[in-house]
Amino acid sequence: MASGSILVAGSEFNLSWRGSFSISEQDKLKLWLQHAGETAAGLYGELPRNPIRIVVQRSTGSGGPVPFGQVIRRDLQGVRFYVNPQYPLESFTADWTAVHELVHLFIPYPGEEDIWLSEGLATYYQNVLQARAGVISERRAWQKLYEGFGRGERDDGYGHLSLQALSPRMRETGSFMRVYWSGTAFFLEADVLLRERVGGGWSLDRVVQGFVGCCLERRYIRDGLGLMSAFDGVVGEAVFVPLYLRYRELFAQPDMGPLLGRLGVSVVGGRVRLVDGGGSGVRLRRELTRGLGSSLSGFGGYNQNKVE
Ligand SMILES: [Zn+2]
Repeated sequence: MASGSILVAGSEFNLSWRGSFSISEQDKLKLWLQHAGETAAGLYGELPRNPIRIVVQRSTGSGGPVPFGQVIRRDLQGVRFYVNPQYPLESFTADWTAVHELVHLFIPYPGEEDIWLSEGLATYYQNVLQARAGVISERRAWQKLYEGFGRGERDDGYGHLSLQALSPRMRETGSFMRVYWSGTAFFLEADVLLRERVGGGWSLDRVVQGFVGCCLERRYIRDGLGLMSAFDGVVGEAVFVPLYLRYRELFAQPDMGPLLGRLGVSVVGGRVRLVDGGGSGVRLRRELTRGLGSSLSGFGGYNQNKVE
């Protein structure tokens, strides 16, 4: 098994190649991993672990450049990617899988009943961070969030089960959309609450950064309530726990229309339009996808038009 390492946003990626990859394929995939890592580091400037284990496994199946990714939680944590190296670099960097999987590493696994939190954080940030990196436009990010919330709302076949009861049965019932997008709704709502109500420069970015600094390695955080209590500990206010207790009892994906409207995201015929102007909701929306205020060096925005 071939191996190697690259430095990505200050963290070492320990690479293992499974299956045979030519040198040029390896070079291309290293550029993709570099880009995905820098995009994920757009959360607050760094990745949450160092080193990070990356296993790249050759796949020939259909399903795009990265048909599947899976977080590795034991020993040295990281991600296993199944890749089809026949796709060009542009297809890899436009793909969201790697950003999604890397975001999982910012928090511990909260267990099956709270898998909606874990998938929600990764799904929320994959869109926000790809917009920050210029991989997709701000409008495209909101289009994807809007469409995802719609898929979550239409996934209503198990309306007799609360989100907490449905989460451990997600695979068996096929309720991926309601679980993923309820979690995404939760983190969007929490981020807006932090920025609007708590104020003082608070954002989900800053809470995750604080959490990684104080608590990521604390073994006693094993469920959603523990995780949300730790997030509240970072803020010094009860923001996450009350929202978490409400969400886990929901019997349907919440309607995000009113919140999107407040942020100046309007929808006409299924197509998102961003309202401009100086309102506080619009400013807040722009800050979400601006993040650190810089695009990736060498990559920033180069394929924005193509993807959009
Ligand atoms: Zn995931």
